[in-house]
Amino acid sequence: MSPTYDVIIIGGGMIGLSTAYHLARRGVRTLLLEAGELGGGTSAACSGRAQTIEGHLDPLNLYLVRAGLERLATLEEELGHPFSWRLVGYFCLIPSQHLWELWTQRARILSENGIPTYMVDREALQKEEPLLNTAGLLGAAYGQEGLLNPFHFCWAYAQAARWLGADIRAGTPVVGMQAAGGRVVSVETPAGSFSAGRVVVAAGAWTPQLLAMVGELVPIHFTHAEAFVTERTHLPLRNTIGMADFYEQIHGKPRAVSVGFSVEPDGALVVTEAVTRTDTIRRGCSVWGLAGMAAHLLTLYPALGRVRALRGWGVPTAFTPDDEPVVGRMAGWDNLFVYGACLETISTIPVLSDWMAGMILDEAPPMDLALYSPARFAQAR
Ligand SMILES: Cc1cc2nc3c(=O)[nH]c(=O)nc-3n(C[C@H](O)[C@H](O)[C@H](O)COP(=O)(O)OP(=O)(O)OC[C@H]3O[C@@H](n4cnc5c(N)ncnc54)[C@H](O)[C@@H]3O)c2cc1C
Repeated sequence: MSPTYDVIIIGGGMIGLSTAYHLARRGVRTLLLEAGELGGGTSAACSGRAQTIEGHLDPLNLYLVRAGLERLATLEEELGHPFSWRLVGYFCLIPSQHLWELWTQRARILSENGIPTYMVDREALQKEEPLLNTAGLLGAAYGQEGLLNPFHFCWAYAQAARWLGADIRAGTPVVGMQAAGGRVVSVETPAGSFSAGRVVVAAGAWTPQLLAMVGELVPIHFTHAEAFVTERTHLPLRNTIGMADFYEQIHGKPRAVSVGFSVEPDGALVVTEAVTRTDTIRRGCSVWGLAGMAAHLLTLYPALGRVRALRGWGVPTAFTPDDEPVVGRMAGWDNLFVYGACLETISTIPVLSDWMAGMILDEAPPMDLALYSPARFAQAR
């Protein structure tokens, strides 16, 4: 007979693994089922930024970012595994007057809410980033954010959850779910079927496929996002760089490039993103994507012309129509939960996954999470 668990989590990305850790910490018998490798969906393929100044300005997100950064500062120690946590500067480059005005307002709100953000004019930006071609830029918004190794981040949560007794299984795809009377009664895998009091779908871009197994629909869409890593540069680059018009550039377009990069501890650059709108989950990068990112990067940093790209990749990135995460119990279900599509995932999950673990156990979260409720889509249907 298959063992019975209190909670089954489907999906071993950073969201599922951090939730498993917080459940195991509460003494809950937890099983996590991951189809492939832990972190092998979107999580290990990301840049590892704990973003601070780019997200939504509602009180909930501002709190989660602020509290998440505080939690991240001691999380390696808490989990007992290093993931190369460090604080870095972030310049959000501003190419238009309209965005300068928008960011001036954002900087004020962010700073008032404990996320210090400064407007830096073109001259000051040039001093801070001597290799940047500032032509066409008005300046930048500057804030401090975190950086980590996303594979080690997933691994740290997985190992800590295991140590606390969670059963974390890679290479175990969920191929079906049986439901009766508003409850998921079993979860089917090639290794057998499992049952639990509660089931959490945390399968990133694959979440709609999982929910379809019980006839449910949550509008989690995805784009295909490409990135690449360079060799070590040995150039004076320390800060993370991004474009203030990222969303304007990519929104509603079949495909678009908006470049940004972060600097690895050894001086290599992780360069993102070429984005394609698609209904098909796939992996891999394209000639179009690599060439587009390289061209945009060289316009900003001509000195990188001699630096070689070593490896490129592409994975799906999940989002919802209102760009808010989906966190909580599925409407009309007794024991089915969904968690995903976070915008600033690394910054927020150290706190949000803790709250989610509590909600799975019927605890009320410390702040109202109606903004993230799956029920908002049920009402729209
Ligand atoms: C290029 C790029 C850069 C990014 N940079 C950042 C960044 O700097 N900071 C940041 O916060 N976010 C970043 N993101 C976004 C971030 O990576 C995602 O928000 C995050 O990884 C989502 O985690 P997840 O656990 O929801 O999904 P995933 O990591 O995709 O995990 C879902 C898991 O579910 C598994 N699964 C699917 N189907 C099944 C099944 N049937 N049975 C069992 N398991 C299944 C998948 O294999 C997968 O491992 C970036 C994304 C991209 C693409």
